[in-house]
Amino acid sequence: MELKTIEDAGYAGKRVFLRVDFNVPIEKGEVKDDTRIRAALPTIEYLLKQGASLVISSHLGRPKGKAVPEMSLKPVAEKLSSLLGGKEVGFASDCMGDEVKKSAQSLKAGEMLLLENLRFHGEEEEGDEGFARRLASLADCYVNDAFGTCHRKHASIYGITKLFDSTAAGYLIQKEVFALSKLLENPEKPFLMILGGAKVADKIGMVKNLLGKIDTLITGGVMAYTFVQAKNWEIGASKVEHDAVPLAKEIIKEVNKRHLEFHTPLDHIIADRISADSHHFATERGTVPKNWIGVDIGPQAVEEYIDCIKRAKTIFWNGPMGIYEIEEFAKGTEALAKAIGEAGVFSVIGGGDSIAAVNKAGVADRISHICTGGGASLEFLEKGTLPGIEVLKR
Ligand code: ADP
Ligand code: MG
Repeated sequence: MELKTIEDAGYAGKRVFLRVDFNVPIEKGEVKDDTRIRAALPTIEYLLKQGASLVISSHLGRPKGKAVPEMSLKPVAEKLSSLLGGKEVGFASDCMGDEVKKSAQSLKAGEMLLLENLRFHGEEEEGDEGFARRLASLADCYVNDAFGTCHRKHASIYGITKLFDSTAAGYLIQKEVFALSKLLENPEKPFLMILGGAKVADKIGMVKNLLGKIDTLITGGVMAYTFVQAKNWEIGASKVEHDAVPLAKEIIKEVNKRHLEFHTPLDHIIADRISADSHHFATERGTVPKNWIGVDIGPQAVEEYIDCIKRAKTIFWNGPMGIYEIEEFAKGTEALAKAIGEAGVFSVIGGGDSIAAVNKAGVADRISHICTGGGASLEFLEKGTLPGIEVLKR
């Protein structure tokens, strides 16, 4: 996929409307996790260095079209300033209006202004054209680096791009699209997908699309129990998404039709309840006895899955293998994370919990790409593109 990138355009003396994803957790007026702000720094620093001035915009939370003081981006302006070494970051108390326009127009090269939360106006999420027009009137050109919102046809992501001659993707979008496209277009084989976690129904669309690209599928977590149930095997009191069982059956059919290598766990760690001090041990086979709960993949499964990882040339992992939040039930997830880190092949990890697990295992820096996009990444893997990405194509 060929995107228009910030390296293709000139920005000297230009005022850029920069859409980012600063949807960070805020507590008592303080940014609790600045990962997303740091993720936008390469683009911000590049544009400033090119001699641009920046009108930066983002959403935060779900204020539903009203100004909600707790969802103000003001604390983000302060955080951004400190991350830029104390450089001044102006803050506009709205994202449009005469006052804001004046502030935007008075920006000099190298200066920036952060607009208030776009979603304080309902028109943002409605994709309203007039709203997009008013945002666009604040700048000369447009750059998007909010990958995590690109699956939405919101005004600042989609409609606004028609109102500028110059539009481009920032570094974060470029990185994300590059890694995800590599999975979809000519991945090096064998391609292994590791599927775990709990939100089965949310992920089925992505799984269906990837079935045409992968060679091997291994499963853990609630995902695995949904497949084990679909095979009509006993799963005891394990958590399962009953509504997704027909979909799992469909996927098994497809897997067989395509002659893919497919595994549910050979054994499980089972517990009498979900707690660190529960009675728990490994089963001898791939079923779970009555009244017991499957909480992690067992040691035989770990061994088999590590063998799959060692054979793979491309790996995509979404969803932990067990209830990794509890140390006793985190062993399967940790073992796979370490094995992927050691594999030294192209690896992509998506999903908030999967990323947390990889960080916990201390191998994040050995993973080729860690998705920042959440729902947007999954939808890209399902459809091969996103509305907000389509409009940035060359
Ligand atoms: P991600 O955020 O990586 O996409 P999910 O949100 O789909 O992953 O799933 C993560 C959650 O799944 C974790 O909270 C984990 O405890 C839970 N989980 C994994 N295995 C099991 C299991 N066997 N039973 C219950 N919950 C599980
Ligand atoms: Mg999750």
